[in-house]
Parts: sequence; structure tokens; C-alpha cells
Amino acid sequence: MELETLIGHWIEKRRPLLVELLSDLIRARTENPPGNEAEAAKVLAAFFDRFEIPHESFAAAPGRTNLIGRVGSGGKTLLLPGHLDTVPAGDGWSYPPFEPTIVDGRMYGRGAIDDKGPMAAIALAGACLRECADLTGTVLLAGVADEETGSALGLEWLMQQKLIRPDYAIVPDIGGEMEEIDVAEKGLLHVKVISHGRQAHGSTPHRGVNAIWNLIALLERVRAAGLPAVPHDLLSPPTCNLGMINGGHAPNVVPGIASAVLDFRFLPGQTAEQYLACLRELADATARDLPEARFEMETLSALPATEVARDNPLVRIIQETTLAATGRPASLMGMSGATVTKQLVSRGVVAVGFSAGDVKLAHMTDEYVELEELVQFARVITLVAVRLLGTK
Ligand SMILES: [Zn+2]
Repeated sequence: MELETLIGHWIEKRRPLLVELLSDLIRARTENPPGNEAEAAKVLAAFFDRFEIPHESFAAAPGRTNLIGRVGSGGKTLLLPGHLDTVPAGDGWSYPPFEPTIVDGRMYGRGAIDDKGPMAAIALAGACLRECADLTGTVLLAGVADEETGSALGLEWLMQQKLIRPDYAIVPDIGGEMEEIDVAEKGLLHVKVISHGRQAHGSTPHRGVNAIWNLIALLERVRAAGLPAVPHDLLSPPTCNLGMINGGHAPNVVPGIASAVLDFRFLPGQTAEQYLACLRELADATARDLPEARFEMETLSALPATEVARDNPLVRIIQETTLAATGRPASLMGMSGATVTKQLVSRGVVAVGFSAGDVKLAHMTDEYVELEELVQFARVITLVAVRLLGTK
């Protein structure tokens, strides 16, 4: 039988196994915080053992396990990183969030779509590759920790420690129903602007320097200045959100300090440093007009804008494979939010976001995944790995 037909049949026959694996992953509670991904890693390790897939676990902190299974050896390496943590269940569920329920072909439970469903599909794809294909490259099946709170103990840590060095990666964590490939992401700068004044009695404001009025003056300038836009075919223009503001103790006290937090999202070709420099210029200009005003900037977090070359083999193979398997094209898209794809691309990995399911269900009550779509996703990922890495 031809390899691609064999793969299709193999995956289809293992549908009950996929359902069983996803059920066990959902039952393993890994709400982050606190995470406790070790519970889900145990489930995944047992699955790998069943198919004699070698695996290693790495934990940056107790209980925060990253599990990496390996299929094939040598050649180019394709990383498939699902994440094992979920956001907290919250209230208002019609189905128990940690006792998976199947209704009309949908499996309900926390993590069903974000990201345990795609994680289970990847594991099944790995098992299929192990049994059916003799790869000329390596596939890393990763269940990573800590994605929902920034990946410091997860993929970011694995890359920093050089525990994995992939050439390619498909991050199955954007939803998109296999119709979208994330190839560009905006950068992010969260910056705290602190305004220093001088406290005084509220009945004699002229004796103090009002830190809140000065902060408002600066923020108005920021708003009026607008943002440097460069045209991009997949990304909307840069944005600025004034997300937090803080200051003052009582109506009758001139506030001596006030602060605001701004959230800038910028485009490839722009940098966080550039935005910070603009902000400093505006602060200096404000301080020239208001001689007693004094501002300080504190960067809370900064992530680069990233983009992969569009004509790389990974994107082309995903597009060809998806069209053949589902009859629907997968188009290129850019994201205003940041995924771990960014952390890979910024280290030179050809990484894209590509996944099954509807992203709008992520983090919601009654989160679910269409099981049929997950089976299809497992098949597409298996075929992509075969076509990208080749077989002996
Ligand atoms: Zn996710």
C-alpha cells in the first residue's frame, strides 16, 4: 500500500485511541496557575511507552514538566509543541470541565481545544510515524509547560537551555480550523510610565507638583502623536492601549506619584526600543513645558515582531497537504497577539502556527473540540512530517 494511504488508514483506525488519550489529558488537571503539568506529562509518557517512542522530561521547577518524545533520528528536526497547561476552569460550565463528555461528536472539557486536543493529535501523528514511516529526519513531540502564563518554564526555557534545537516547528495553538497559517506576529511592549511630583495639602495645590496632572499631559501627547505605521499585507497597523492608571491617596492630598501602563503592539521592521525612544522624547517635551514634571519609564515586557519567509518549504507543504486532505485552502495570516511561535522564529527556527479547532472556544466555559477535525489534523500533521523530512 502507498505510504500516504497507509497513514490515512492507520490514523482512522486509531480514532478510539485519540479519544482515550484526550480524555486522560483533560482528566489530568493542569490549570495554570499552578500548572502541575507533571500530571498530564504522565499520561503522555504512558502513550509514548505504548508505541516505544523514546522520551525525556525536563522541569524548570518541581511539577512543571516538559516532556519530549522523539521519532526518527538525524537529518532536519521538526518540533511539534503542544502545551500541557490550561487556563483555570472558571464557573458556569454545563459539562464537568475535568470529566470529558462527548455530545454530537464534540468532546467538552477544559483544554479540549487549548491545547490538549491538538496535543493528543500530535502524539497520535508521532505514533503513526513511528509505526508506518522510516523518516530521514527527526520529529520532536513536545508537551510543554507554562504556555498560559508566558512560557518562562516551558518552551522559552527549553530554547534558552538549548535542550532542543529544531529547524522547523508547527505550533498547534492558534485554532484556525486548519484554514490559517500564522506566519507573522506583532511585537509587544508593555511599559510603565511613572510621573514624579511633590506631595502637598489639597487646599494649597500651588505648593506641590501634581503627578497626576503631569501624567495626563504626557498621555495626551502620546495619544496625539499617533504611531509610526509601516504597511503590512497581513497585519493591522500598530496599536497602543492605555491599560492601567494609578495614583492619588485622598481628595485633599496633591499626589506626589502616579503611573500608567501602556501596551504597544508594533510591526516587523519596528522595535520595542524605537517605541521606548519615542516615549522618552514625548516625556522630555512634556517636561520642558511643565518644568517641575519628571518622568521615568520601566519596561515590563518586550517581545519582538516576527515573521517567517513566506516561500519556505514548511508553509508550502502545509498548504498542499491541507488542500488535498480537507479540500479547503489554508491561507497565510498575521496575528496581533503573541504565541510561542515568536520565541522560535526570533531564534532562527522556521516556525508557523497551524491548528485545528475554533480559537474562539479557547479559555471559554464549555470549551470543546470536534473529534472529526482532530482526527483530520493528526493525519495532516503526519503527512506534513513525511513530506517535509522525507523517508528512507
Ligand atoms: Zn494555548
